[in-house]
Amino acid sequence: MSDCLFCKIVRGDIPADKVYESDGVIVFRDIDPKAPVHLLAIPHEHYSGIHEIPDTDMDIMKRVNSAVSATVKQENLDKEGYRLVVNYGTISGQAVPHIHVHILSGRPMDWPPG
Ligand code: 5GP
Ligand code: ZN
Repeated sequence: MSDCLFCKIVRGDIPADKVYESDGVIVFRDIDPKAPVHLLAIPHEHYSGIHEIPDTDMDIMKRVNSAVSATVKQENLDKEGYRLVVNYGTISGQAVPHIHVHILSGRPMDWPPG
């Protein structure tokens, strides 16, 4: 998608502070962090939500999960804990319609989320 912000990061058209990259997945720092550690894991492929991925392409989420797993270990987030968030649609507050897993850590977090 030519006008998608995260597709632009995938293409290198806009910069990102990358912390991990593997197998068609990029993990980079959120530009407006909501926690001391706030990373975003995105697949190269453009889908707005997980439910839009055909079963034949669901390997995408396996690759995203593998990158998240490697990142939380690399960044030592597995010691104190972390939260993963995937927003979709208006009521969730999704701002960028390209699947991304938020990785949040570094402070206590409330439950349920607002
Ligand atoms: P959403 O609300 O769609 O789940 O999350 C989108 C996230 O992307 C937000 O946390 C926002 O701060 C982040 N974001 C928006 N624009 C940029 C950008 O240009 N670069 C980076 N690194 N993050 C961005
Ligand atoms: Zn995109």
